[in-house]
Amino acid sequence: MRLLIMGAPGAGKGTQAGLIKDAFPIAHISTGDMFRKAIAMQTPMGKVAKTYIDKGDLVPDEVTIELVRERLQEEDCKNGFLLDGFPRTVEQAVALDNILKDLNIKLDAVLNIAVDDKYLIDRITGRRVCLSCGASYHVVANKPKVEGKCDSCGGDLIQRPDDSEETIKNRLAVYYQKTKPVLDYYVKQELVKDVPGVGNIDEIFANIKKVLGEI
Ligand code: AMP
Repeated sequence: MRLLIMGAPGAGKGTQAGLIKDAFPIAHISTGDMFRKAIAMQTPMGKVAKTYIDKGDLVPDEVTIELVRERLQEEDCKNGFLLDGFPRTVEQAVALDNILKDLNIKLDAVLNIAVDDKYLIDRITGRRVCLSCGASYHVVANKPKVEGKCDSCGGDLIQRPDDSEETIKNRLAVYYQKTKPVLDYYVKQELVKDVPGVGNIDEIFANIKKVLGEI
């Protein structure tokens, strides 16, 4: 299976991507996670990415596209992959089409987690993520068993610096301006499968499994 998962910031795509990765033997490729790792390791690319991420802006296409091009050629992608957070611009989508053509493969589906705008800000500002493994929680809707600690690995939970109320407004504006057109791009290719992103995490995941069973 070769999939994309899309949705506005706060739609829950990271959480659902984690469940998909655990249930299916495919590589999970999150460009956001790759950037956060590079920032933590203070690589030259991480330093560049940080200046954009901290403001809620997109990392330039040329940096992001090369990162994904290399990642898609790694061994674990041969069984299939789930791209999470890429493509975020039409230029990235066109580049992805070219990369896939070079590799002689095609996408099977684009999952779109649809959530009404009014829920997004609360979901993002309440989000807490594990510093060690990246697992995602919410202060009300998805609390960890022990406050401040990750259920899976015991790591410390933090609020992502770009999840502040100030930054999120820019991230949503960037989503509507640059990423929403990517969805339209895939609608034209008849690849989009809408999944309602409301309800509890397991219900949403059950809807995703149903959709995946039909492709
Ligand atoms: P995410 O974890 O997917 O919400 O990504 C966090 C941040 O990383 C985004 O707000 C962007 O600044 C950056 N980022 C992640 N993926 C991309 C991408 N495909 N293109 C440009 N910037 C990205």
